[in-house]
Amino acid sequence: DKKMKSIDKRIDEYHFKIKDSSDLKAESGVFDTPTLKTLYTLASKGIITAMGGVVSTGKEADVFHAIGENGKELAIKIYRINTSDFQKMQDYLIGDPRFSNVRGTKKDIVFAWTKKEQRNLERAAEVGVKVPEPMISERNILIMEFIGKDGVSAPRLKDVRLEEPQPIYDTVADYMRLLYQKAKLVHGDLSEYNILLYEERPVIIDMGQAVMLEHPMAREFLARDVKNIVRYFKKSGVKCSEEELSAHILKK
Ligand code: ADP
Ligand code: MN
Repeated sequence: DKKMKSIDKRIDEYHFKIKDSSDLKAESGVFDTPTLKTLYTLASKGIITAMGGVVSTGKEADVFHAIGENGKELAIKIYRINTSDFQKMQDYLIGDPRFSNVRGTKKDIVFAWTKKEQRNLERAAEVGVKVPEPMISERNILIMEFIGKDGVSAPRLKDVRLEEPQPIYDTVADYMRLLYQKAKLVHGDLSEYNILLYEERPVIIDMGQAVMLEHPMAREFLARDVKNIVRYFKKSGVKCSEEELSAHILKK
């Protein structure tokens, strides 16, 4: 009961409480009309109870904090329809057997991209890689588990100084191997920017660009991921090398 009260209080403090679509419109100059409508639909289904503040503003997407069913904290990633990286999105989609026939307007590409991130997160979770659990995606909106507490995101590896980097490195190396061997995926943008540290464990995020192994660039993306991870962990004091990490990921 006490917990419910604090959730209600938090909902009240939020920028808008979703009762009807006019609430959404009044409170947000940030969303375009179709995005507002989609948010309202999600709210009317009870998936979103209250929208919170912006957690991150990126090149391709913004991430918001929100409250869902039973007071559960959510992260809502909203891709921009007019993204500057639209050409990149198309290239990453075309080589992926799951999305190879996606053609059309910017909007269609961005919607496919949003679905792709959801599918990638699902595949990663299925093989035991810790990622934010995806819940639902609709058009350019992806709703997932919030990694953090009380509206504050867990820090990125970039933002912390690791006291004990070795177990974190070992887990990231195992996650890269699981992704490759079991999920048949390469993250493609893995670095200290896309790994959060939550309860002293790494959580992999931002999987929109992750591709299946069939993608013509998969090996190159993997080499780049390996390079980034080794660079970061070497700096943190772990003895590691690109050769070693590659072998760990690729060995049968
Ligand atoms: P991009 O880098 O494309 O803008 P990300 O998926 O990396 O998008 O998200 C940007 C930032 O938003 C992350 O660095 C993190 O701080 C925050 N964030 C993203 N997803 C979550 C999540 N599920 N839980 C908590 N914070 C998140
Ligand atoms: Mn990112």
